[in-house]
Amino acid sequence: MFASFSYESRSPEDTARLARQLGERAFAGMLITLDGDLGAGKTTFSQAFAAAIGVKEPVNSPTFTLIKEYEGDAFPFYHMDAYRLSLMEADDLGLDEYFYGDGVTLLEWAERIEPMLPPERLEMRLEVGTENERYFTLYPHGSAYLKLCMALRQNGVLQ
Ligand code: ADP
Ligand code: MG
Repeated sequence: MFASFSYESRSPEDTARLARQLGERAFAGMLITLDGDLGAGKTTFSQAFAAAIGVKEPVNSPTFTLIKEYEGDAFPFYHMDAYRLSLMEADDLGLDEYFYGDGVTLLEWAERIEPMLPPERLEMRLEVGTENERYFTLYPHGSAYLKLCMALRQNGVLQ
């Protein structure tokens, strides 16, 4: 029940490749959470993911705005950063409107608001290795995300 998948990135371009693979398989209501130290590559991943779903605007770290909304080709794209959020503040933002809406959401520093996260989501944890190495561990919560990870393992993207 606690399947996990891994991906080794050796460059920002490798990180972008994983983001594109997931972006190409995006669906309405998709939620991906990203946790990892500053500089691990969360925003790098988010930018490539956004481009893959057709966002034309530049996507920056939403640390000070908390939530930024963009238009993708088929879905709205919501980029969130919970770094500065307390649980009480998060409660006021009405995040469920986003999580259970028709858009695709990427949430950086998700663990800060863990109790508010929906049960179905793709949890991604990033670890920094030496210099340009980044290790991604993906934990699918729910059958849609499990199928997605299994498909990516099938085609050799994930291990
Ligand atoms: P975060 O949002 O997690 O704080 P960023 O994506 O803003 O991280 O920054 C990651 C930094 O690390 C960038 O400067 C990027 O060029 C660098 N970097 C080096 N190697 C990688 C890699 N394999 N994947 C992602 N970023 C990398
Ligand atoms: Mg960031």
